[in-house]
Amino acid sequence: MGTKGREIVNMDVGKLVELLNKAFADEWLAYYQYWVGAEVAQGPMRQAVVDELEEHASEELGHAGKLAERIIQLGGHPLLKPEDWLTKSNCGYESPEDPSVERLLEQNIEGEQCAIEVYQQLLSITKEADPITYHLVLEILADEVEHEEDLQAISEDLGLMKERKG
Ligand code: FE
Ligand code: FE
Ligand code: MG
Repeated sequence: MGTKGREIVNMDVGKLVELLNKAFADEWLAYYQYWVGAEVAQGPMRQAVVDELEEHASEELGHAGKLAERIIQLGGHPLLKPEDWLTKSNCGYESPEDPSVERLLEQNIEGEQCAIEVYQQLLSITKEADPITYHLVLEILADEVEHEEDLQAISEDLGLMKERKG
């Protein structure tokens, strides 16, 4: 990265890279959780759920890309081995053993809520110290907030459908 660009980061750059790599690990796991969930999903409104899961999968992959770019700018490197994703992750991975749309939605809502907390923390850490990373994290956080809302909306629709069928 440019020397001046790095100089303006007013915190331990190694520590910042570590935090960004933890979020990077989360994004890969979120990507795969959505991707494989979309493959195995079963139940009512399956196609609507699959469309949403696939859309979110591609957005999580986009987040991983943005984080990798910033990590490299900061002179670090993104985690190079998939086995590091689980050990470094904040939010972990929930495998879709139960492929019902209800359970998939629940698992992914939990994941989004964890992501929102992680990015909220990253925002407060970078607020004064690194406006570039702050701006990036803010963009990602806005997506995660939208993801949670999208999934909860589908989940509510499913609940209403079941009630009516009673
Ligand atoms: Fe994400
Ligand atoms: Fe998300
Ligand atoms: Mg969406």
